Amino acid sequence: MAELIQRAADILATSKSAVVLTGAGISVESGIPPFRGKGGLWEKIDPMRYAHINAFLNDPATVWKVLIKEMKQALDRARPNAGHMGLVELERLGILKTVITQNVDGLHQMAGNKDVIEFHGNFARLRCLDCSRHIEMAKVSLAKLPPRCRCGGILRPCCIFFGELIPHRALIRSQQASADCDVMLVIGTSAEVQPAATMPFIAKDNGAFIIEINPEPTPLTASISNLPVMGRAGTIVPRLVEEVRRRLAQV
Ligand code: NAD
Ligand code: ZN
Repeated sequence: MAELIQRAADILATSKSAVVLTGAGISVESGIPPFRGKGGLWEKIDPMRYAHINAFLNDPATVWKVLIKEMKQALDRARPNAGHMGLVELERLGILKTVITQNVDGLHQMAGNKDVIEFHGNFARLRCLDCSRHIEMAKVSLAKLPPRCRCGGILRPCCIFFGELIPHRALIRSQQASADCDVMLVIGTSAEVQPAATMPFIAKDNGAFIIEINPEPTPLTASISNLPVMGRAGTIVPRLVEEVRRRLAQV
């Protein structure tokens, strides 16, 4: 493990344009359960029944009750962990240029990263299905579900459900950042959700070195990862950043 971190630090310390792709795993140590894997939300609820856009449009009250309210409770309590903070330091050191995140929890921004692409949107903002007005989740009463806009329309979170398209600008910017990077860190994603999972392939096709941090193997591990580091983000990322800092101090 220590040797893998040393090798990853050697690569990162000479990087000019690193990009990170994060998934739900980086926020697990902040208390937010992932969707897949052990302890994941899908062990409790069926995604197609509650996380598809058609499920929401057919029965918004139930999706609010079963999925959105449950996620909100976890997200409200969550604060950035050592993994998020390590990525802020990597940006401050001038190595990390962009964070592409599949997460909707806003923790990268809360930690202090400046350039964050929210690939699947943000959970803390709501949008009216009728008039498109935006409103913060925190300002809405959830006493009666689904919550409604002042125009009477139903409010939905500004993150995407299964069956919806990726916000255009986020998709284009992510593809560009992936094509332009020399190193891609892939942290805490099962790499099973498309099209997010294509970003490491775009990076690799354009010559990037792929460093993966995850306690479990993923479809990338045996295929395109140059350096899989098996471990938790909150442990590995700070150690990696410390090693990068040490190398930068030597030159
Ligand atoms: P996923 O739930 O499919 O997979 C989570 C991955 O994280 C797994 O590979 C798991 O092994 C790994 N993991 C678990 N603990 C970890 C740790 N401590 N450190 C590093 N890795 C760890 O997540 P996904 O690939 O991001 O796809 C699920 C989709 O669900 C995302 O697109 C996202 O929009 C959404 N989601 C977001 C949040 C959030 O915002 N925090 C939470 C759940 C789901
Ligand atoms: Zn409205």
